[in-house]
Amino acid sequence: MAGKKVGVLALQGDVSEHIRAFEEALGGAGAVVPVRSPADLAGCDALAIPGGESTTISRLIDESGLREAILSFEGGIFATCAGMVLVATGISDTRFAPLGLVDIAVDRNAFGRQRDSFEADLPVKGLEAPFHAVFIRAPLAVRAGQGVEVLATVPQGIVAVRQGKHIVLSFHPELGGDLRLHRMFLAGL
Ligand code: GLN
Repeated sequence: MAGKKVGVLALQGDVSEHIRAFEEALGGAGAVVPVRSPADLAGCDALAIPGGESTTISRLIDESGLREAILSFEGGIFATCAGMVLVATGISDTRFAPLGLVDIAVDRNAFGRQRDSFEADLPVKGLEAPFHAVFIRAPLAVRAGQGVEVLATVPQGIVAVRQGKHIVLSFHPELGGDLRLHRMFLAGL
């Protein structure tokens, strides 16, 4: 983990929570930088794509010229919530084109109004004890391709996957102070 440089996509959403969580997970052994332009992404070992509003983030990715830079990025991607929608190969509505970096099909706002937000103690592959997961208008993966390892599910579908260096979560690991998933991600870079 030593010396890793983690970029946090800082266009919209809960950016500061992600920056804080990665700073703590790195424990001073690396650096965390906000990413707002292709130049910011250069030299990063990883990119976190936070929760927020995926339609807005997608538009801002295009406006800031980051789409190409993210598509050719060779580091690991840590995508949460809206980030899950953005990195997917397929999404349930077609208001924007996802990045197609992780072979999953995603249903946006899959839990609907009644279960707008909820929390669950989630068993996650690779973690010894369940992870207390906070879901906020969360998406759900409804299909995972061959190269995708499913790390966690709820009765409705898939909520955590890994594809190579990338980890994709439909919940918010940056809230709540449990950094085990951040550490798992950093260890895989
Ligand atoms: N459902 C939102 C979207 O599709 C994501 C919600 C979140 O990131 N908390 O953008």
